[in-house]
Amino acid sequence: MLRISRKAETFTESVIREMNRLAVAAGAVSLAQGFPDFPCPPELKAAAAEAVAADHNQYAITFGAKPLRDAIAAKTARFHPGWIVDAEAEITVVNGATEGMIAAMLGLLDPGDEVIVFEPFYENYGPDAILSGAVPHYVTLHEPDWSIDPDELRTAVTPRTRAIVVNSPHNPTGKVFSRSELGLIADVCREHDLIAFTDDIYQHLIYEGEHIPLATLPGMRERTVAIDSMSKTYSVTGWRVGWVITSPELTIGVRRVHDFLTVGAAAPLQQASVAGLLMADGYYDRLLADYRERRDILLPALETAGFRVHRPAGAYYAMTDIRDLTDEDDVTFARRLIEDPGLATVPGSSFFSRPELGRTKVRFAFPKKLETLRAAADRLTSIRAATRT
Ligand code: PLP
Repeated sequence: MLRISRKAETFTESVIREMNRLAVAAGAVSLAQGFPDFPCPPELKAAAAEAVAADHNQYAITFGAKPLRDAIAAKTARFHPGWIVDAEAEITVVNGATEGMIAAMLGLLDPGDEVIVFEPFYENYGPDAILSGAVPHYVTLHEPDWSIDPDELRTAVTPRTRAIVVNSPHNPTGKVFSRSELGLIADVCREHDLIAFTDDIYQHLIYEGEHIPLATLPGMRERTVAIDSMSKTYSVTGWRVGWVITSPELTIGVRRVHDFLTVGAAAPLQQASVAGLLMADGYYDRLLADYRERRDILLPALETAGFRVHRPAGAYYAMTDIRDLTDEDDVTFARRLIEDPGLATVPGSSFFSRPELGRTKVRFAFPKKLETLRAAADRLTSIRAATRT
């Protein structure tokens, strides 16, 4: 019988993308998927056009065009002094953080290895692990501040554990991991000889707290696989340019898989990405100020509408609890919202391995124009509470 693979059977289509499709079909305002509805910086558009015109149209070096790798190393040292990266041996340019994570897992894990993933999670990590033949092992972040229970983390480590995934600032909660939490994770990694896959793509969107790369903690350089991308920092999610920074030894595994998986990221967009990485400090200040303004429109509107809101310290999502609004579950509520008042969100259960943990939650994304957010705020005022039974 013709059938899909057992691996592919173990996960379903991304709920986030499904919600987006329904939103488009219904003409709803979409605060579902996390991508900007505003233009990217004009400098990047010009750089992309120039790169095509200058004939950067053939395969780049598979692990990344040299000017881009140099720019990544320079930006890393600029924002995280002391973190000196060898552009020849420690950087792999990939097709976005998405490819970065799966290429890293495929290149560094073996079948049967266990990977610790905090939940709620960005929904790719579990499937990434499964596709790599590894087994995700979920550790809950506890409300209200999405904290780690150190005992739960330590008990999650078994003799098969090889790695842990850390995403700070965190999608979907907006949590920014503190120095002491990162210290705990680093201790566990060193004690049990684990690899840390860090997803740092929201590192420039921090409203409270600071971004501390796990790689900069003592003894973590050689065991951290730091993944970042152009998508969020430069508002170019469609470019599909990202990078993986890790030790020369681990880079060999990442590059081997990356080579066979995709050969390389789009050559002209690699060249154009250099213009982004060279942006002056003012660019990052403005980016953050703009996101703060967006957050400050959405959050009060959600609270007024009756949502319990987890105030995000970073990234561009607001995780909410719908218990005061409805007895419906998250998926029913999210589908109803798309129809009336015409607002798309993501049901909370899609961020948990045990869907029941997310049944009273929905996530809103706010990388949107102010007018989109105002339209959303307007629609939020007309949410009808479902009749409680
Ligand atoms: N990692 C996290 C935590 C995300 O939220 C997203 C997109 O929403 C990605 C990775 C995808 O990044 P990229 O566009 O670089 O593949």
